[in-house]
Amino acid sequence: MAKPKAGKGQLLVRVSTCAVCRTDLHVVDGELPDPKLPLILGHQIVGRVEEIGEMWDGPQRPDSRSTKGAPTFAIGDRVGIPWLGWTDGDCSYCRSGRENLCDNARFTGYTIDGGYADFTVADSRYCFHLPERYDDVQVAPLLCAGLIGYRSYRKTGGARRLGLYGFGNAAHLIAQIAIYEGRELFAFTRPDDKATQQAAKELGAAWAGGSDEMPPEKLDAAIIFASVGPLVPAALRALAKGGIVVCGGIHMTDIPSFPYVDLWEERVITSVANLTRRDGEEFFEITPRVPVHTYTETFALEQANTALEQFRGGKLSATAVLRITE
Ligand SMILES: [Zn+2]
Ligand SMILES: [Zn+2]
Repeated sequence: MAKPKAGKGQLLVRVSTCAVCRTDLHVVDGELPDPKLPLILGHQIVGRVEEIGEMWDGPQRPDSRSTKGAPTFAIGDRVGIPWLGWTDGDCSYCRSGRENLCDNARFTGYTIDGGYADFTVADSRYCFHLPERYDDVQVAPLLCAGLIGYRSYRKTGGARRLGLYGFGNAAHLIAQIAIYEGRELFAFTRPDDKATQQAAKELGAAWAGGSDEMPPEKLDAAIIFASVGPLVPAALRALAKGGIVVCGGIHMTDIPSFPYVDLWEERVITSVANLTRRDGEEFFEITPRVPVHTYTETFALEQANTALEQFRGGKLSATAVLRITE
């Protein structure tokens, strides 16, 4: 494949690893509207800067939408490229600190080419420096499962009793932060998935059971990571008054109707869309302190379709990471 060229403000990155996300399957299956076609998938990219395009107003240009200045990169630096690839900086959402909702946002591996490739280009302002304690394989799942999971987790505010529905990649990572911050964790898996329930308990969950079960105590918040609509009313019924259900996925099957009494008493349902750069800064600051441990299974780039199929079939025991260059 021809090497892409770094345009203005962009980095040319030699890809080292790229983790596989459920969103990649939603894109492949045509469940998300208007992807770039043809498209290179992949939005949890770790690589090294090979070339730097002409910068906007000098590389030190401060970025008011981020807590820090825009990150600067030198040739050879390790770089993390997430889902949020570009925003206009100008719409009402961007101007109010909600660039994750930007009207004109572009997304890596969806509306711009991603990291299932030897090289990719990325706008440097949306890239991250990654914590040194992780190698390129370990750190890749943090870039989406971790980051967007973290945004979902932050939406639960100070919830003491936290339920996680769907105990996959994102839940594994967020559970570690939740326990580190003293939350009481309740893990919900597919009914009868005793192995995953056991894994959740080993990670420190106070309780683990099937998504058809009620927890022993009412929850202050629940995050739904599975793309299964009927879990929304199920989670709502498990909430205490004033509790919140956060839907952490980009796609979900239809939500069945439910009686108003289940929402009454100030219960809330919300979704989480994308990420802001500020989420990333916070997340990569906290992960090495916990430290959040990632669980990975590596595949060669040529085995990308195998990895996707194994993901689809629920046959992966950890996050699939494509190992592209050593
Ligand atoms: Zn915008
Ligand atoms: Zn993702």
